[in-house]
Amino acid sequence: MSTEKSRDPLDVDLAQMPGQGLSKEDAFLRILDGHWRYLDNQRRNVTTTEEDRNRHAQGQYPFAAILGCADSRVSPEVIFDQGQGDLFVVRVAGNVVGDFEVASLEYAIEHLGVSLVIVMGHEKCGAVKSAIATREAPGAIGKLLQQIYPAVDEAKNMEGDLLALAVRCHVSRCVDLLVEQSPSIASRVTDGRLRVIGLIYDLGSGDLDIRNTRG
Ligand SMILES: [Zn+2]
Repeated sequence: MSTEKSRDPLDVDLAQMPGQGLSKEDAFLRILDGHWRYLDNQRRNVTTTEEDRNRHAQGQYPFAAILGCADSRVSPEVIFDQGQGDLFVVRVAGNVVGDFEVASLEYAIEHLGVSLVIVMGHEKCGAVKSAIATREAPGAIGKLLQQIYPAVDEAKNMEGDLLALAVRCHVSRCVDLLVEQSPSIASRVTDGRLRVIGLIYDLGSGDLDIRNTRG
């Protein structure tokens, strides 16, 4: 399979191509390969040599961009078993889609050649829990929670656990918002150059649940 060539972290030629030379399909296979290693307790023993640092100093060539929650338990580099320079990661409580998050992802797509964006929410997300608990939060937290209220309202019309449903609705909504709010992302999704995938990470089992895909 074509992903074989991308697995060796010492393959400097591939590592220094935009998006590490991976198609959106192969980029996701590499994510899944790494996640399997994580689940199987086979994470690579990543070392950083002086040669690696010199290479990083020349430029960055991540193969995927992640919008994830700031929660300390959901580090994409750990969960997807990737090394320094492999993932362009934007983390914010509740993985909300605001202007700064969109701008950061647009940079990875337009300037670094990333063809895969993953929005990763997670079970028992504290930000979503807060959005369920209150509509009265003050200041900056209140502004952040406003980004999650539409998903909570959507989930309230469904049968089942409200938090779990709201987490799911929120991730799906974040994927759609990214496409709607960024003409750059929308055009690339439409012409097939970019894929945006919404995932839920389960803290207990470590499993990933794919919610929705655009592109
Ligand atoms: Zn969270």
